[in-house]
Amino acid sequence: MSDKASPTRPTHCIDCAKPMESPICCTHCGSLNPVPLVSINYFEFFDIKPGYDINQDELHKKYLCLSRTTHPDMAGRDSDEMRNRALMLNAELNRAYETLKDPIERAEYLLALAGGPTPSDDKSVPGDLLGEIMMIREEIEEAKSTNKTPMLETLKNQICQKERTVREQIAVLARSLDKNDPTNKKAMRKQLNAIKYWNNLLEQLPTG
Ligand SMILES: [Zn+2]
Repeated sequence: MSDKASPTRPTHCIDCAKPMESPICCTHCGSLNPVPLVSINYFEFFDIKPGYDINQDELHKKYLCLSRTTHPDMAGRDSDEMRNRALMLNAELNRAYETLKDPIERAEYLLALAGGPTPSDDKSVPGDLLGEIMMIREEIEEAKSTNKTPMLETLKNQICQKERTVREQIAVLARSLDKNDPTNKKAMRKQLNAIKYWNNLLEQLPTG
């Protein structure tokens, strides 16, 4: 993975000539970037170093500032064209923020940036995960049909613990993505597939 800025990223604002901290808009004068954002990655939107470990406060602060600057109702945005441009950039900004703030979404995004397998390329899961999931699912059904609340609690704790373990493994693998090792990427794909199974199980449990 490279931390080099994308070549299409504007370095200076075309209106006020100040350095652009984000390729989305100029936070000095509010000028919106007219260049397409396609080849610019989400980390660059916020001018933060690509990686699993990010400063959440910094991300949030920058998001709020960019969100205000790209607001379609901001002064001077009188034409439909300007408003539409603002709406588009604002939507793209929100997508970037939602992706980077969530650790699993962020890991998934980093894997894609590193050229790793997508969920449709590779649906495999680690070891005997499917058997384990099936067993717990049956236990949930049984506990639900017999109204066994303590049993559901135990199952919930068990699933949460499994989910946490997978989450930790994803973090470890995501931190070593820069080694560009295909085995590592494949292992990460498997864990990212696995976490969806655990989260689906959690959704089957009654809340509260
Ligand atoms: Zn400017």
